[in-house]
Amino acid sequence: MSKTVLITGASRGIGAACADRFAKEGYNVVINYHSSRTAESLAKHLTDEYGVKTLCAQADIGKRAECEEMIEKAIKEFGFIDVLVNNAGISLSGLFTVTKEDEWERVISTNLSSVYYSTKAVLPHMIREHKGAIVNIASMWGEVGASCEVAYSASKAGVIGLTKALAKEVAPSGIRVNAVSPGVILTDMMKEYDEETLNELKDETPLSRLGTPRDIADAVFFLSGDQAEFITGQILSVNGGFVI
Ligand code: NAP
Repeated sequence: MSKTVLITGASRGIGAACADRFAKEGYNVVINYHSSRTAESLAKHLTDEYGVKTLCAQADIGKRAECEEMIEKAIKEFGFIDVLVNNAGISLSGLFTVTKEDEWERVISTNLSSVYYSTKAVLPHMIREHKGAIVNIASMWGEVGASCEVAYSASKAGVIGLTKALAKEVAPSGIRVNAVSPGVILTDMMKEYDEETLNELKDETPLSRLGTPRDIADAVFFLSGDQAEFITGQILSVNGGFVI
């Protein structure tokens, strides 16, 4: 029977690349999105190209009720979620001193509380079956902190802490929890950076290029599968050597 992956924020960027990577390996894919209708064309592409089943699930993953409803719908459709990829996220740039409370809360709920909501909804099913893998998308800024991105860095540091602690807690239940920590990856999230800044970031990267969504999708797929069956609680940095 085909396995199923649920990817949050799979309509664009890294999430869409993950959807493609898993579909290529025969997984049914639940494509969560917030507002991008591109999710539907992606779903059609995956079915046409790889013959897999897909489900587009609109939900604001920063809201507990929407997240739980989405997981319930996915389990009803496919019976089980073998792999949960907590990918959806937003960035926020600006001085900490001018960060408004609602901005802070939006970043924390979208990037961190969402991981709590979706994981909490999926785990009872995984525990019952004594199997499953969770891969969270962190960020190198969660590892080392970024000036003028304090809320974002805090949310991603939270994801890293959650990954390590939960991995210890659920390992006896046969479930692995890991994170991929991307460096600078060329997606819509980087649109606010001009050409000059992107070139500077490239020059600062020891491997002399910026990352692609595919770089991250390959790492996520690796951590989710049998090749990584003795790996849990790890933060795999995929950043071209930017942070070592
Ligand atoms: P992106 O291209 O901006 O895509 C973000 C995705 O998240 C979209 O699918 C978006 O859905 C979804 N999303 C945002 N808010 C949501 C919400 N409330 N509910 C459900 N879905 C929501 O970003 P990306 O670069 O692929 O980033 C993906 C992940 O990688 C994020 O967690 C990000 O922090 C992390 N990351 C990215 C970089 C980078 O350089 N790009 C570096 C480190 C870490 P809609 O399309 O419907 O809006």
